[in-house]
This record gives sequence, structure tokens and C-alpha cells, in this order.
Amino acid sequence: MAIVVQKFGGTSVANAQKIRQAAKRVIEVVKSGFGVVVVASARGKQTDQLIADAFELNPNPPKREMDQLLSTGEQQTVSLFAMALDAMGYDAISFTGGQIRMITDSDHMRARIKSIDAKRIHQQLDKKKIVIVAGFQGIDKDENITTLGRGGSDTTAVALAAALGAEECEIYTDVSGIYTADPRIFKNAVKMDEISYDEMLELASFGASVMHPRAVEFGKKYDVKIHVRSSSNKENGTIITHEVPQMEGVIVSGATIQRDLAKIGLLGVDNMPGNAAKIFAHLAKAKVVIDDIIQTEISPEKANLSFMISISDLAAAKEAVEQIKDEVHCDSIFVRDDIAEISVVGIGMRTHYGVAEKMFTALAEAKVNIDSITTSEIRISCAVDEDQAEKALKVVCAAFDLHKPAKYRRES
Ligand code: ADP
Ligand code: ASP
Ligand code: MG
Repeated sequence: MAIVVQKFGGTSVANAQKIRQAAKRVIEVVKSGFGVVVVASARGKQTDQLIADAFELNPNPPKREMDQLLSTGEQQTVSLFAMALDAMGYDAISFTGGQIRMITDSDHMRARIKSIDAKRIHQQLDKKKIVIVAGFQGIDKDENITTLGRGGSDTTAVALAAALGAEECEIYTDVSGIYTADPRIFKNAVKMDEISYDEMLELASFGASVMHPRAVEFGKKYDVKIHVRSSSNKENGTIITHEVPQMEGVIVSGATIQRDLAKIGLLGVDNMPGNAAKIFAHLAKAKVVIDDIIQTEISPEKANLSFMISISDLAAAKEAVEQIKDEVHCDSIFVRDDIAEISVVGIGMRTHYGVAEKMFTALAEAKVNIDSITTSEIRISCAVDEDQAEKALKVVCAAFDLHKPAKYRRES
């Protein structure tokens, strides 16, 4: 039997009426002859509420206990979803991540999926049941509950679609697809019909919260067709798919804003082999995820080194660099916790020039100072003051005509 995976995000299951509405979308697909596996998120803002509850009791809650707590949000949704389907006359069964052997590593709160045993799901689909799986969670080899990081239900859905060989993975959310920028910030953003995995991965990794980055990686690796669409209308959304040659004609496909960043700089570190290795070994030991490393030689004897981290890792990162500071003869450490990053992404950048100039000019004309610049083959990112970030995003979107559909932005 052909299988479709349908994932419903928090707003799409926020209350009984929304769950019923989502259940109707599931039934439509069941009626057209597919086996359906539903992945559901916690209702509404429930994950935020659970986090607030934890911090009320403990400013530094143990990560294992956080996962134990946060996983309950999704567990509630899936049983309610199964009850809604039952009331509508359809046989459904809900599972937690552990019950379908969604095995992850033990890195609590940002665990990575290692394997899934699809047997139990196939058995239920064979019995003509609709299977509802709790997103965002798994278990490690010692049966501890783990979670995949904020937004991780997308990854549960795409990983399941890959494991089940599903025809398609539908991501139902509160916008109608992937837009050229977050439509809540840049109101004139336009919806894309399709986007390549590589572009979506850069957008997701640099702030487009509409997809969890790991979900896009799974999609690319296992060839899963991902359809991001609205749970409140029937419009076609955006297909995330493999690159085709004409995509290169669009130089900038989208722009993002990433907040909640911090930057740490180590000034005047001894310029000698092994120092960078020592610093990053300390940060790795503290489990800090690092982005945008910049090292510059400032004299034959000294170098400056800086990197970006998520603000949630700031305390651990500060402690780690303080421990190594003297060993590498660092003159001083500076920290910025008021920084955001604006990025433009497009596979057309591989074959066209002038993108950096256009971005920097737009920021200069808006009097936005650029703190640092990093690039990949298909992305340019500028770190800016957080309080100027929205303005920066809007001027960059305007500079690249991101209010126009792709066909009007195509160059030869
Ligand atoms: P869900 O709860 O359904 O997983 P999310 O809040 O995780 O939903 O993701 C949807 C949100 O992503 C949208 O409401 C939108 O504000 C935001 N977003 C950011 N960038 C984009 C983009 N380029 N296109 C569409 N939505 C985006
Ligand atoms: N409920 C989790 C979160 O709010 C996972 C998800 O929604 O994808 O981050
Ligand atoms: Mg999400």
C-alpha cells in the first residue's frame, strides 16, 4: 500500500476544533486509498509553557528531565488525535517515539535520530489503521526519552517518510508554504512553488523556522518529496525537491533572519600551531555548537578568533573559553549577546556575481552596520545589531525583489 506521512505543527492542532479539521485532512487521504501516518506536535504553545514551568522550579534544569517533560506535549496530542479519528468512525492508534523504536543518540534536547524500526507501523497500516506518531522525540539506547531540538517534529515526519518509503511527506503549518522571507516580518514575501533541498537547508539553518534543518537533510539524503502547506486552506504549498538547472537562474531565492545568537571573540591569541585546536576542543567538550568561525592573523605573533553560538549555549561557552584563555595567552575576551544574522540564499550565486555588493549596498544605504560577514557557496550572511535586524531584512528583501515571483527575477 502506498503511504503518505502528514505532519501537523502546533498551531494546526492547537484545540479540539483544529484537531478535528486536521483529522478531516487525514481522512481525505485515507479515502483516496493511501496508508496514512500522522506526525503531530504539541498543541499551540504547550512546549513553551512546559519550558516555563521547568524554569520556574529550576534555573538550570537537568536536560534528561527536560526531555522527559517536553515529550509529554506531543504525547497528549497524538492520543487526542486518535480519539478524534475514532469519533469520526476511523480506526487509529497512537505511538510515542519510544514505542516505534525511534532510536537517537543521548544528546538530550538536540538528539539525532540513529534508526527507526518501521515494523510496528507497517503492522498497524496492514490492519487498515491510521497511525499517529508523537513528533520531536525518541529514546536512546538506555531507553531515556530524548527530544530532537525545537521544531524537531518536522524531522520525525521526514525520517519516518524515508523509513516507510512514503510517496510524500506533507508538512501542515500556519503559512501556505515556503516564502521568499518570513511573511510575518516581510509582508510582501511571495510563496515559492518549489525550492531545492540545498537552498532550504541553508534557509532553515539560518533562521527560517518553517522547517527543521535536519528534516531537510533527511529529505535530501533519502529522496523524500516534502510538501509544505497550510492546514487551513487547500492551496498547493511549496515542494522541497532536488535541484533542476533552471533554478540557477534565480540568484537569490530567499532571505532569513536569525536571532538568539551570541558572538564570542578571543583577542590576541598566540599565533602558533595547536591553539585553535585547544580552544575548540574545550568548546566541544562543553557540547557547544559553533558557527561562523573567523580567525585573522594580526601580527606574526598574535591572532584574533571569533565565532557565533546560540544564546542558549552562551554560559557554557563562556566558561569553556575562560578555562583555556591563559593557556593560549589570550589578551581579552569579548562577548556580544545583542546580535542577529541576516542571510540571502540562492543556488544562482554559484554562477552569478554582484550579490555581495548588492547586499552590502542595501545595508549601507539603510545605515545598518555589518559586524561580520560569512559565506557559503550559495549564501551570504551579515551579522548586525539585533535591534536593526528587521529593518536589515526588509531592505535586503527589497534589493533582491523578493516581493516578486521567481519567474520575474530569473536571469540568464
Ligand atoms: P509549526 O508549528 O507548524 O511547525 P513553525 O512556527 O515551526 O510552525 O513554522 C512556521 C512559521 O515559520 C511561520 O509562521 C513563519 O512565521 C515562519 N517562517 C520563517 N521563515 C519563513 C519562510 N521563509 N517561509 C514561511 N514561513 C517562514
Ligand atoms: N513541540 C516542539 C516545539 O515546539 C516540536 C515541534 O513543534 O516541532 O519545538
Ligand atoms: Mg515547526
